[in-house]
Amino acid sequence: MKTAAEHDPAWVLREVLGPVVVLRLARPPVNALSPALAQALAQALRELADRQDCQAIVVAAQGRCFSAGADIHAFGHAAGDPHELPGQIETCPKPVVAALHGDTLGAGLELGLACRARVAREDTRLGLPEITLGLIPGAGGTQRLPRLIGADAARALMLSGQFLHAREALAVGLVDEVTPGDPVDVACALALRLAAGSWSRARPRGLPLGESLPVPKGRLPQPAAQVLEACLAAALERPLAEGLALEALGFAQCLHAPESRALRHAFAAERRSRQVPDLPAGLRPRTLERATVVGAGTMGHGIAICLAAAGIQVDLVDPDAAARGRALLAIENHHAQQLRRGRLQAQEASARTARVQAHAQLSCAADADLVVEAVYESMALKCALFEALDRVCRPGALLATNTSTLDVDRIAAATQRPEDVLGLHFFSPAPAMRLLEVVRGARTSPQALFDGLALARRLGKIPVVARVAPGFIGNRMVGPYGRQAERLLLEGATPQQVDRALVAFGFPMGPHSVGDLVGLDVGVRAAAEGGARGDPRDGAIARRLVALGRLGQKTGAGLYRYEAGSREPLADPQVEAIIREEARQLGVRRREIDEQEIVQRCLLALINEGAALLGEGVAARASDIDTVWIHGYGFPRWKGGPLHHADALGLTQVMEGLARCSRMSPHDAALWEPAPLLGELSRSGRSFADWDAQRA
Ligand code: NAD
Repeated sequence: MKTAAEHDPAWVLREVLGPVVVLRLARPPVNALSPALAQALAQALRELADRQDCQAIVVAAQGRCFSAGADIHAFGHAAGDPHELPGQIETCPKPVVAALHGDTLGAGLELGLACRARVAREDTRLGLPEITLGLIPGAGGTQRLPRLIGADAARALMLSGQFLHAREALAVGLVDEVTPGDPVDVACALALRLAAGSWSRARPRGLPLGESLPVPKGRLPQPAAQVLEACLAAALERPLAEGLALEALGFAQCLHAPESRALRHAFAAERRSRQVPDLPAGLRPRTLERATVVGAGTMGHGIAICLAAAGIQVDLVDPDAAARGRALLAIENHHAQQLRRGRLQAQEASARTARVQAHAQLSCAADADLVVEAVYESMALKCALFEALDRVCRPGALLATNTSTLDVDRIAAATQRPEDVLGLHFFSPAPAMRLLEVVRGARTSPQALFDGLALARRLGKIPVVARVAPGFIGNRMVGPYGRQAERLLLEGATPQQVDRALVAFGFPMGPHSVGDLVGLDVGVRAAAEGGARGDPRDGAIARRLVALGRLGQKTGAGLYRYEAGSREPLADPQVEAIIREEARQLGVRRREIDEQEIVQRCLLALINEGAALLGEGVAARASDIDTVWIHGYGFPRWKGGPLHHADALGLTQVMEGLARCSRMSPHDAALWEPAPLLGELSRSGRSFADWDAQRA
């Protein structure tokens, strides 16, 4: 019974449904609550407050969701008073009811919290994820949520940053009604009952959130977590106005804190990495419905799992029958485990398992839209394989190599169609790791690159584009980082000292524990394949340990020793003796080394290499390098990635650090030579962020 509809040019649509007026946010796609949108809604509410013919108001939204939250670009800029709109809703003389659908997050949910009641469509997801950006809800959420659902549930929701589905939100008292249909209809009826004084909230408030939302056990962003606790305490003990004032102060404190800057940088960096500025507009993705994965080892079977999860039919090729058997079993086990953990339904688990077929021969690749090669890391083997693929595959198939270090251009040159060849560097374990380095060869066509990026998206991965260079982005930086970790051993530190220092910095594991996990033989073999004959100190300890059969966790001993069945690295006096002996033979003087030096040397090496490859154009942006290290190598997200960390330290400091390292170890002066780009930025008083901004 629509009586009138008028378009408000100021982004809020108004519909008059008898005595109820519906105000609809109309800033698709996600109705980000910018200051302008908030003002438009506030203006519309003011106009309705005194109108005799309006008895109640429903706030709803157009598009795919109610509101995904504040406009992240507006953070840190003068944005008006964020409490104004919720306060106005709360004190409006007419009852205001929220009609929610889709994502209702952050400031979007805070708007809803200020309403007298909330109706949600079944697909609604509600949450206050500010903590993941090192922030707290800043538009009254910390005060209104605990008042509505109780302190424990509010704490769990805000500290975890996780989302509730409509039905869970109903159970906890966050919404008052859930409907499969149009929430606006239900909200209008409820609003009229409120206006007539014939509705009150029946359900007990503050039902426990249960197991579904445990407060995270790991490290929480600071000072946000602490500020949040103080706000929660105020919500229980103080009047609303005082709590809101505390929230405003706390929000400002978090906004300017280094951790929030780093987390917001990481968030924006992840979204930016998918954009490749020089791709022509109007490309359409090619069909990728059938894939061949060549090599059924660790990576091959993991990649098969990823493809099958995206609905792609997979032929997994390996001449080794035992490898094929192991891979099929691992794939089945993976899906069984997902089923046990409640992440997959039984039907979907078996459909995914059935999507992967194993073969001994490459001939099945004739039907493939996509080939991903994951055989041993050998140039000769990969070139022979791509020659074969060129003969077998139909024109238009996308050909990808999962090489970690080898020259993709040489591999592409083994075919007559280098334009269809690219690198898709998955990380291990492939189903769990979200990073995908998409390697753009010199002759990779824009279409092939576009298809690689589209595939990454379909697989739920975070793609970062790299140019061809040894080790691309991530593994190239591992080189100097690992080299310092090793030099430190020769010079007097123990593996556990080095690992402890870098774990204290924020890495989940230190480089030596990682070495043992990956296998020391992998690095030794890669160095041999690279044919590099560098400094005799490089790789000396690993070569010696590998020669003794100490490959790492898989042999029960590497740089550490392991008790049977345990992955806990234990100090091993034998290793310390080996290191001392190596140092003696190499003529390295040993001394006491402290934690600060360990962190400084490893990080400076990392930053300098990042700057070098950025300057060479291997990565297009500093923020891409940060994304690679956060998602592929465990760099602490709350430090924003190596180059954001460098910016936070100040590039002058970084240059001074490099100079100090060079003075301390004149033998290694070449290693500490600042990358040209680093020198240039530091001299001109710019940061990596400035460099990115100038190229955007
Ligand atoms: P893996 O040793 O586990 O498996 C390699 C498989 O390739 C074996 O099953 C072998 O039988 C098979 N194979 C050998 N020749 C073949 C051929 N001609 N045709 C078909 N199959 C053949 O190795 P992996 O760790 O899975 O590594 C595979 C590739 O992925 C390498 O290029 C490696 O650098 C890269 N990679 C590895 C990791 C990692 O962490 N393991 C990470 C990223 C990339």
